[in-house]
Amino acid sequence: MKKIAILGSTGSIGTQTLDVARENGDIEVLGLAAGSNIDLLEEQIREFRPELAAVWSEEKAQELKQRIADTNTRVVSGMDGLLEVSTMKNTEILVTAIVGMIGIRPTIEAIKAGKDIALANKETLVTAGHIIMPLALEHQVSILPVDSEHSAIFQSLQGNKAKSVHKILLTASGGPFRGKKEEDLMEIRVEDALKHPNWSMGQKITIDSSTMVNKGLEVIEAKWLFGVDVDQVQVIVQPQSIIHSMVEYVDGAVIAQLGTPDMKLPIQYALYYPERRYLPGERVDFWSLGKLEFEKPDMDTFYGLKLAYEAGRTGGSLPTVFNAANELAVSQFLKREIKYLEIVEIIEDCMQAHQIIENPTLEQILDTETATYDRIKSRR
Ligand code: NAD
Ligand code: MG
Repeated sequence: MKKIAILGSTGSIGTQTLDVARENGDIEVLGLAAGSNIDLLEEQIREFRPELAAVWSEEKAQELKQRIADTNTRVVSGMDGLLEVSTMKNTEILVTAIVGMIGIRPTIEAIKAGKDIALANKETLVTAGHIIMPLALEHQVSILPVDSEHSAIFQSLQGNKAKSVHKILLTASGGPFRGKKEEDLMEIRVEDALKHPNWSMGQKITIDSSTMVNKGLEVIEAKWLFGVDVDQVQVIVQPQSIIHSMVEYVDGAVIAQLGTPDMKLPIQYALYYPERRYLPGERVDFWSLGKLEFEKPDMDTFYGLKLAYEAGRTGGSLPTVFNAANELAVSQFLKREIKYLEIVEIIEDCMQAHQIIENPTLEQILDTETATYDRIKSRR
């Protein structure tokens, strides 16, 4: 039995991780953590019988405690609760399927406790990659990518030496607004941006995909996971989302991973690496597919991607500003407080105003997040 805990068990990646656990039958789920959806969390507890469940809000945690008094699951709350689930004595793998920079501290503590990390929470690596990657090395834990592109890169790297990598070819669907120009994007509403052509995901990442900020975060994520410069990562729009990413080697060979868009594949690969397990589901049918298309990303319209390259190239605290500004701007857009195009305008404004800290500590990262939020909140 493989023993795991999941941060963000009620979300898109979290529920699919539980699907993988259910379908395989040899994964023991020892800990679950969620934000506020205690209805679903209760169902999950009754099915998987974890030792520990964390709920972010204290009030909801109290309510859950009463509801599941008949079980053996202990309920905890807040950051302490998240940290407790992340460092449980008997877990081997922590799945970080929580959204946002809130995942930094739990991820760091899990690594210190010797847990392998199945990492979906890209915001953590974008902002604290310089802390997390050396720490993982020091504690000899693996960071196993769950993000589909990074899993594809990881799969395409198997059996090859890192030093023979020339380039990483990171594919993008282009999102719902591919081919549109700024003037077409002025009146985009929340419901327009939440319609992704190929993937069904949480709200924040769906908005990020539409602005291509998600691809920007993934460029920086790739830099940390695979030890490359951001300029070695080339983004290629592949509208069908069949090629999940590729690696170009020094001899010109390109190795790719293809598949239908299904997050269960990267989740399962991370949980059982290096083993491959049977996964039911649709297969790529090349006869009916006919062709695959490729495009260059439009970084003038979707300049959030350009800003990500700048943040990744500069490093230090700038990726934190890029990410934190995006997190708050997206949540304001989802609450209909700002217009669609303001999301990236806000990121650019915060990046320009920021005094870069080289090699920031965890505390400086969190201070930078707060300062970025304060700047955005005082905008109007
Ligand atoms: P989601 O919004 O569907 O789920 C987020 C989960 O985090 C929920 O369970 C929520 O309860 C939990 N959460 C949020 N704040 C919390 C807090 N303070 N304390 C405890 N739990 C909290 O998001 P998602 O789409 O599953 O994405 C999760 C992460 O995975 C993100 O970093 C995203 O970028 C990444 N990712 C997602 C996909 C995808 O297909 N959904 C693909 C690649 C990467
Ligand atoms: Mg992705």
